[in-house]
Amino acid sequence: METNLFEACETCLQDEPAATTARCPVHVDIALLCSELEKGEFKKAYKVLEKRIPFAGIIGMICDHPCETVCVRTQLDQAVQIHDLERAAVMYGRTPLKKIASAPKKNGKIAVVGGGISGITAAFELDKRGFQVTIFEADRRLGGRIWDYEGSLISKELIEEELKLIGRIGVRVVYNSSIGTGELKKLAQEYDAVYLGTGRWESELFINQETFQILDWPIFAGGRLINQEKSAAGRSNDSVIDSVSTAKRAALSIERFVKKISMTASREREGSYQTPLVYDMDDVITAQATMKTGETYTEEEAIQEAGRCLKCRCVTCLKACSHLQHFNVTPKSYGRQIQINESVIMGTRYANPMINSCTLCGLCKEQCPLGIGMKELVRETRESMVEKNKMPPSAHDFALRDMEFSNSSQFYLVKPPPSETTYKQLSRMEAEQGNPSNQGVTISAEKVKYLFYPGCQLSASCPDYVEKSYRYLLEKKTDGVGLMLGCCGAPADWAGRKDMMAESTQRIRRVWSELGEPIFILACSSCIGTFERYLPEIPYFSLWEVLEQLGLPEEAVSGKGRKLNVHDSCSTRNNQAVHESVRKLAFDLDYEIEELHYSKSRTKCCGYGGLVYFANKEQAEQFAVERILESGKDLLVYCAMCKDLFIEKGKRTFHILDLIFGNASDADALRTMPNLSDRHENRAVLKRKLLRELWGENEMEELKQPNDWNLQIPQEIWERMEKRFILLEDIKKVIEHAKVTGERFFNPEDESYLASHRIKYVTYWVRFAEQEDGIHVLSVYSHRMEVMKE
Ligand code: SF4
Ligand code: SF4
Ligand code: SF4
Repeated sequence: METNLFEACETCLQDEPAATTARCPVHVDIALLCSELEKGEFKKAYKVLEKRIPFAGIIGMICDHPCETVCVRTQLDQAVQIHDLERAAVMYGRTPLKKIASAPKKNGKIAVVGGGISGITAAFELDKRGFQVTIFEADRRLGGRIWDYEGSLISKELIEEELKLIGRIGVRVVYNSSIGTGELKKLAQEYDAVYLGTGRWESELFINQETFQILDWPIFAGGRLINQEKSAAGRSNDSVIDSVSTAKRAALSIERFVKKISMTASREREGSYQTPLVYDMDDVITAQATMKTGETYTEEEAIQEAGRCLKCRCVTCLKACSHLQHFNVTPKSYGRQIQINESVIMGTRYANPMINSCTLCGLCKEQCPLGIGMKELVRETRESMVEKNKMPPSAHDFALRDMEFSNSSQFYLVKPPPSETTYKQLSRMEAEQGNPSNQGVTISAEKVKYLFYPGCQLSASCPDYVEKSYRYLLEKKTDGVGLMLGCCGAPADWAGRKDMMAESTQRIRRVWSELGEPIFILACSSCIGTFERYLPEIPYFSLWEVLEQLGLPEEAVSGKGRKLNVHDSCSTRNNQAVHESVRKLAFDLDYEIEELHYSKSRTKCCGYGGLVYFANKEQAEQFAVERILESGKDLLVYCAMCKDLFIEKGKRTFHILDLIFGNASDADALRTMPNLSDRHENRAVLKRKLLRELWGENEMEELKQPNDWNLQIPQEIWERMEKRFILLEDIKKVIEHAKVTGERFFNPEDESYLASHRIKYVTYWVRFAEQEDGIHVLSVYSHRMEVMKE
């Protein structure tokens, strides 16, 4: 697997802090603070402050809040009032100081010169790191300029209460002790290191701006001594919170200095920096800052203001994707889980459902400011699981069998345009080939200019529209349009089956070459996705572009100005020509389009992509429901599966062909998906009909359906069959097998038989009774366990 896909996931911004937290010199988690306040959890909010700020009761009240200037809300209205919120956290959440268990003082002795903001912060930090600390304070009390705020921003009682902490943690204080250069030198000799937090000094100090060491002496500085020097960012300030920050950082340098370890390692993100996080403001509603009715916020006002905080975190992809939400992962954690899975526990119950529940729609990549997406990684993971035999067959078995059916003689067909001359030529060539498995497959001696390839799902859901579209193309494109029926291989691609995918694309490539390299006309978005990725050499148009060029059939019904929401298919998210032609066709039919928030290159998946419908139906339904919730009008789609899934969830949905070849009626908008067995039958019948009516070929033996013994199947059994992906033809095969081999159990009580038959990876069981009016199916069941004969 490509390692750079994992590397890309690692660059995800998910864990990057909000702009305010990065700007805060001590990195208070502002989003968390606001979350707690919003819940009315003032004590917890205060703990958020305490985690990053010593003496949070003081600093929280007087902080000069540089963070507010970078709050992303300033792009829209006003910054979150962080200063007032911090004050509210202190006022309503501060808990009286308890006794603090001081760490054993084994690491050495430190002198702190100055007992102001930075001095007491450094002392607190160094005490926590196991140093015996002594503060030398020139005044008769600690606090320095904190007292300048007394009465305006903070009360005397609160300052005194908070400063008692110094005594409680066992820091010694020497009051009325003025330290000059001579005393400083002495302290440097007596102590393991000295912290200088005096705000001013009598001579110039040469302070390293990264480690805060003065020259190579055992002396470090912080607080105003740093603030008032030109900082690396070119700023000069007298910030309270910068003083706290530099004191904390100098304390770390002192610890490393004493322990003789690198003072510079891993310190890139200390102090203020700019977060790489790009917060998506698209859905943010304007709200002015909450007004204070007094000096400070009341609890209610604080709760309201905290609600304005967006709790910035990059969840742009997560917000848009039901799958990421369901598993609560972002690409970073997703990539890590895949890696663990690959190397250690591949095949566990948890990871496989996750990997098989991504629709491979690619929206995450479109949403991400860094262009990180899961599509390629999940695709490769599935391929790797298949290669290592770790992919549970149950996840994709039905879809792959469906694909095999579409590429079997039941549906597969290649025909040049039906005309008098070619028809005769074809019949002759077929007779010469004489191979029954090639029935319906005719390679023309003549070059074919266009080849209509409607795909297997449209043919399964609306075979009628395939026929009408083809007849219309034949009528309008006088230079001839051939027909190819089959499956493009998308299920194999989604299932990680490279072998089947290669076989499928080779088949298409071979036909293209043998027919003289015609231009394909595609009517299915998945086919377009497959052609773009695997068959780039084959030129194609979407049917919608061709219809736009040819003009609409006369009988197409006018929309009379009706409004529709277009749901673009995710497999054509980057195909502008498709987006435009569908809209143009709707416009020409007099419909008005109201664009959805997620449309065109940012469209969402309907839930069918990536075979999620088969691997995790509940997840597929979440996709459909979420998409439906976005739309207030009838939907207009151009993929048969999108239509089927939306209607299954109760949404009125038109396929573009409903507007062109249908009646655009309520019946069209609500027509439910044919059941799984009928989807096969529809394809087989379509092939037989077209062969008969356009090429004059009568129904061939090969294509006849197996005996159906006049099967009687009650409604509840049909429903069970749908749920367990059991087809009518599976039931017929079981009964056929029982009849041919005689292998069946007889229950004399109700004269019923029980028979089983394994088809590929699945064993099917059918209980049935033979009666005069036919065979009555009494129950059906399937499982993946194989019944072995001893
Ligand atoms: S909205 Fe909240 S988390 Fe985001 S930048 Fe502003 S204060 Fe910080
Ligand atoms: S479902 Fe789509 S948006 Fe979600 S992770 Fe997969 S590719 Fe990305
Ligand atoms: S959008 Fe998703 S993948 Fe991209 S940075 Fe944000 S969380 Fe990470």
